[in-house]
Amino acid sequence: MNAEIIAVGSELLLGQITNTNATYISSQLSELGINVFYHTVIGDNPTRLKQAIEIAENRADLLIFSGGLGPTKDDLTKETIAKHIGAPLVFDETALEQIERYFEKRDMVMTANNRKQALVLEGSEVLANYHGMAPGMLVAHDRHTYILLPGPPKELEPMFQYEAKPKLAALLNEDSVITSHVMRFYGIGEAALEDALQDLLDAQTNPTIAPLATDGEVTLRITAKATTTEEAEQLINAEVTKIQARVGHYQYGVNDDSLASKLVEILRANKLTISAAESLTAGLFQAELAEITGVSDVLVGGFVTYTAEAKVKQLGISPELIATYGVVSEECAIAMAQGTQRRMGTSIGVGLTGAAGPTSHDGQPVGTVWIAFTIGNKTYTHHLQLSGMRNTNRIRTAKFAYYYIIRELRALGYDVAM
Ligand code: ATP
Ligand code: MG
Repeated sequence: MNAEIIAVGSELLLGQITNTNATYISSQLSELGINVFYHTVIGDNPTRLKQAIEIAENRADLLIFSGGLGPTKDDLTKETIAKHIGAPLVFDETALEQIERYFEKRDMVMTANNRKQALVLEGSEVLANYHGMAPGMLVAHDRHTYILLPGPPKELEPMFQYEAKPKLAALLNEDSVITSHVMRFYGIGEAALEDALQDLLDAQTNPTIAPLATDGEVTLRITAKATTTEEAEQLINAEVTKIQARVGHYQYGVNDDSLASKLVEILRANKLTISAAESLTAGLFQAELAEITGVSDVLVGGFVTYTAEAKVKQLGISPELIATYGVVSEECAIAMAQGTQRRMGTSIGVGLTGAAGPTSHDGQPVGTVWIAFTIGNKTYTHHLQLSGMRNTNRIRTAKFAYYYIIRELRALGYDVAM
């Protein structure tokens, strides 16, 4: 099954809003293993909408519409499709009652055009709207499936997820299951990852492999279809093994893991504690760890040592070291990592220093970062040359630090399950 998403709304064409509905629906369809070949955006114009439908019918099995289900005159999606497939519009009792109750509760007079929202295509499966009045619809006609969803994302997203998606899954596989698994990578770009997996990506059928890059991270969603969950999982595991043989070095986690949550999980599993001394990140590294509930079992505390003076005072770094090497240096990062480890008595100490930008710092070009960490009595260092804006560089530094520590713990033989 392949799909086309048709977003209806002149405000999309005028550049007033972004077509986030198409993005959302596409990512949901990829979970189902449905290919999306086209996104179309069309204004509130019935003639052009009809043309768009005819074009889409020639190249897609599934047509998903967003927007134009509301009460106003420009909301024409339903009417246009009704005419096109020759299905009359009939009142859906449940939706009508819901709309009447909505107005009663607010002691408002219901106008006739509001009743219009309860009109549905005859023979369609009605999709409940949990956050608004206009119901959605799924209707099959002549080899095509049409799904109509309301425009506001807070209505569309739950309707898709809880109403449309299970129906689509059932349509796709009367007696099969779909399972997916996400592999999360850091320290490798999307292009390099795809390059390493090109033949697997080219050959994919079942399971499918969908790469996605966000915020410097890359994920692969592996989706398999089989008659049982076990079989689907076996298909996924075989693919995961192949992928890990090539780029496993860069994998830090799976599914809903974040770099910070994965690090905390690993520290917990191995009964390790951590502290950090942060210069350019000024607490970001620790703050993200602290987003995880109950993290005090591994995160002991640490330092924000922004100035050279603070590094000397709080961490006991010698002024001579700073005078010789500067604060943006490998030597300083090491002294910070060892200083925090010693003062906080943790298994791991982390030192982060660099020039976040926009101007160079301590004679070092913008984006120069030194990450040092100690594990037990061994110290590891990494040098980064980042090219982002100030805040991106700070966020990337924290992420790279989590990633390098995870990688090192794995290399050292600690319990790091993926
Ligand atoms: P309503 O009952 O609110 O009128 P509707 O189904 O008629 O809903 P539209 O009138 O097309 O939907 O759009 C309503 C609002 O939903 C828009 O003003 C916009 O904020 C949002 N919206 C519409 N289409 C999209 C889209 N493709 N992506 C993101 N947001 C959208
Ligand atoms: Mg509307």
